Amino acid sequence: HAAPAVRVPDASDIAEWWPRPSASSDKYSRGVVGVATGSAQYPGAAVLSVTGAQAGPAGMVRYAGSASREVLRKHPSVVAAERVADAGRVQAWVCGSGLGTDDDARTELRSVLATSLPVLLDADALTLLVGGQHAADLRRDAPLVITPHDGEFKRLAGEAPGPDRMAAALKLASWINAVVLLKGDRTIVATPAGEVWANPTGSSVLATAGSGDVLAGLLGSLLAAGVPAEKAAVMAAYVHGLAGRRAAEDGPVTSADVAEALRPVLADLL
Ligand code: AMP
Ligand code: MG
Repeated sequence: HAAPAVRVPDASDIAEWWPRPSASSDKYSRGVVGVATGSAQYPGAAVLSVTGAQAGPAGMVRYAGSASREVLRKHPSVVAAERVADAGRVQAWVCGSGLGTDDDARTELRSVLATSLPVLLDADALTLLVGGQHAADLRRDAPLVITPHDGEFKRLAGEAPGPDRMAAALKLASWINAVVLLKGDRTIVATPAGEVWANPTGSSVLATAGSGDVLAGLLGSLLAAGVPAEKAAVMAAYVHGLAGRRAAEDGPVTSADVAEALRPVLADLL
């Protein structure tokens, strides 16, 4: 059968799709994103994913986890709780970056998946999925997005993406009924319905620790703002790539630099 037509977004697509507040918007109607990331061992992942989320269109970021102190020091506007179950009103969840894989982490992942909200799973949440529930049983009615790099993809799918990354991403998307954002130099977004996108803004400066955590937060904010999962993934990858390029103009890039570059990139784009 014919290979699906791959789509490539451009700057005008992102500008057109990006949610903007209206005169009557309030912080809730703009979206509340819940971020369940980080741990005592990896508090930085919480800070990076929250910084990504803060750059997005949602009106409020709620953090659930054990890195509240670090998160609040950088982002006083964040509303923090220890647990997902105590986080209050949230419209989409980001879960996994630096979360760890212990029993507490598993409890938090379960709480997130038990909601009827859009969910983005990354990193340790993907590892927990492999070790727990069979991935094919992961049937939610609400949208699910996963953001694996090759190693996480291989653990989930049981095999490496191989040379045909689009076919691999499409197969996993259909198998677990989720939008799959397969990271790489040309990040792929594949949907269960067979749509596939290739991101044109990749930059090897993104190959740095914590870069994926920033992407996860930004994508979650788009989900909370009501953007459909497929477009949210395409938009987040595009803007994240531009932020990497922008940060590189000032010299060697850390993921904190990528996170800081999101806002100037969006100011230019929108
Ligand atoms: P993570 O491994 O979760 O930190 O995510 C890494 C991020 O960097 C993803 O957004 C990847 O798409 C991106 N990335 C990694 N390697 C490259 C590369 N060689 N060129 C472009 N982007 C890359
Ligand atoms: Mg990662």
